[in-house]
Parts: sequence; C-alpha cells; structure tokens
Amino acid sequence: MPGEFNLIDKYFVGRQAQREDVLLAAGDDCALVQAPVNQAIAISTDTLVAGTHFLASANPAWVAHKALASNISDLAAMGASPAWVSFALTMPEVDEAWLKPFCDSFFALANEYGIQLIGGDTTKGPLSLTLTVQGFVAADKALRRDGAKVGDWVYVSGNLGDAKAGLDVLLGNTALNAPYAAELEKRHYLSTPRVLLGQRLQGVASAAIDISDGVISDLPHILKRSGVGAQLQVDELPISAELLAFTRDREQALQYALTSGEEYELCFTISPQHRDALESMLLESNTKVTCIGQIVAQAGLSLTLQGKPLEWQLSGYDHFNNN
Ligand code: ADP
Ligand code: MG
Repeated sequence: MPGEFNLIDKYFVGRQAQREDVLLAAGDDCALVQAPVNQAIAISTDTLVAGTHFLASANPAWVAHKALASNISDLAAMGASPAWVSFALTMPEVDEAWLKPFCDSFFALANEYGIQLIGGDTTKGPLSLTLTVQGFVAADKALRRDGAKVGDWVYVSGNLGDAKAGLDVLLGNTALNAPYAAELEKRHYLSTPRVLLGQRLQGVASAAIDISDGVISDLPHILKRSGVGAQLQVDELPISAELLAFTRDREQALQYALTSGEEYELCFTISPQHRDALESMLLESNTKVTCIGQIVAQAGLSLTLQGKPLEWQLSGYDHFNNN
C-alpha cells in the first residue's frame, strides 16, 4: 500500500526492547530467532476479521488488546511461555488515527507478557488482523487436550459469561442503561490471558483448553480428544456480580456462563491425586479457579442444575453465525 514502508517503520519497527533470543527483528526479509535448548516451540495463528470478530467502529486500543490477548491465550492453554509474535495487518487505507491507539495498546500488552513483535506484513484490503504467536514449553509438559481421565475434576479459571453480556451491549441488544453495561462491554475486549496459571498447571493438569467459543463448545474438544465424557453442575459455574445484575436473573446468567464465547479463561482437568496440591498452590497465588464437574466414562457432556438434568437448548458461540 502507499507509504507502506514509512508506515511499518513508524508504527511497527523498533518499538520494543530486543529479547536476547531475537537475533534480527522486523526490517529484513526474515526475522532470526534462537530457540532455547530442550524446549519445544508452541505456535498458534488466529485471524480477526472486522464485522465478524470485532466491529470496525470499535475502539482500536481494545481491538488490539483482544487480538493479541486471544493469541496469547492459546499459549497459556498449552502452558507455554510467550516469546514472539508476527502480525499481518490488512486495512482499506492508511488510517493513522486508528493505527496509533491500536499500536500503543498492542505494544503495552506485548511488553506486559515479554513478547516481541518480530515481523509481519502490511497490505491493503478489508480490515483484518492475523497474528502468529510463538512460545516455549517442554514437550512432555505441554497441556494438551487428550489427557483427561475418568474421575478427573473439571475446573475453570476466573468468571464466565461477562464477554457474552459485553457482546449484547456492543451489538445494541440491550438497554444502554442496563447495570454495568459499559463495564461488561469493556471486559468483552479486555480479557486477561492466563499465562501464569497455564505454566503452573504443567505437570499437574491432565488436559487444558482456553475458552474461545463457550465452555459448552470447548470442553467437548477435550472430551473428544480424550475419549471420555463429563458431567457439569451448572450451578457451580463462576459468575460475576456484574453479570448477575446485568441479566437480573441467575438462570440467564448461568446460560451466559455456559455459552459465552471469547472468554479466554482456561478450562482444565485435574486427577484426584493432584487436586489438593492444585487448590493450595492456587490459593497461594491468588488465582481464582472453580471446580464445575467431573470426567465420566460415558461420552458427551451432561449438564445438571440443582441435581436434575438440564433442559435448556443451548449452543456455544459462533461469531455472528458466520464462522
Ligand atoms: P517483504 O516484501 O520481504 O515481505 P515487507 O515489505 O512485507 O517485506 O516487510 C518489510 C519488513 O517489515 C519485514 O521485515 C516485515 O517482517 C516487517 N513488517 C511488515 N509489516 C509488519 C507489521 N504489520 N508488523 C511488524 N512487522 C512488519
Ligand atoms: Mg510482505
């Protein structure tokens, strides 16, 4: 695109301190990086398309946070330590009023997690962001989806459901004066990738996934890959006081918690032997996790509410039914 080089130099190159394992960052034909000995490199790519994953009119600082945080969350879900990111940006025209807050927020979050931008691509077209993050993890300690065993306990981090309430707000599907509307909209964009939790779960959790499409959609990925089923007590799902005030109805709040996409909390399984160690470790580190159910032999996900089978018709999040 016109002025592409100026744009790249102005906004993307030389904005961060160089990591020791980055030999050559953005500016040449390739980046050169040095992988650590005895560690595997965890790699994940995600694309966010305007109109599908975020609104083009959304606050660019929030969009940057969402794009990078959702990618870092994939590293967290493997127990990996974030290291490098590449960024392909497609935009209809050079829009510096959008780029500046976008980049400031992008680099603030990258610095917080010690991630260096090592390269990318900048092209003209409909607004879309593709990020590839890379991190390190010992191959035999990575948190995979295929290790859950019958009898393991199912946990989630943080609270669930706020992101879906925030989506209601940003799509205008709710009264503007609904309680905590502005706060929940912000939470939709500003999730916290659970990197430290993922690292602490290495060697402890039997399986893990990050919740990007709703626990009701994401936990089944673990179940399928592990060849097991699960029973969830929906009453146990952790919901925020703000979500409860927003929905004004506990049952609806629990439905939100089950189906809320783009939550970026971790869902993981723990064997009974590791359960006490996990609880005391997390108490020490002040990380909120909640046991929501247990792995069973019978395939599928069965949900109970107050001890009775649940009859809601629910499905997870599918990005404006578009994905
Ligand atoms: P090439 O034509 O070799 O693909 P580019 O003109 O696309 O090179 O990019 C020049 C340099 O700027 C490369 O090192 C590339 O990694 C970097 N770069 C381009 N776009 C971005 C971006 N959005 N973020 C970070 N680095 C970028
Ligand atoms: Mg290029």
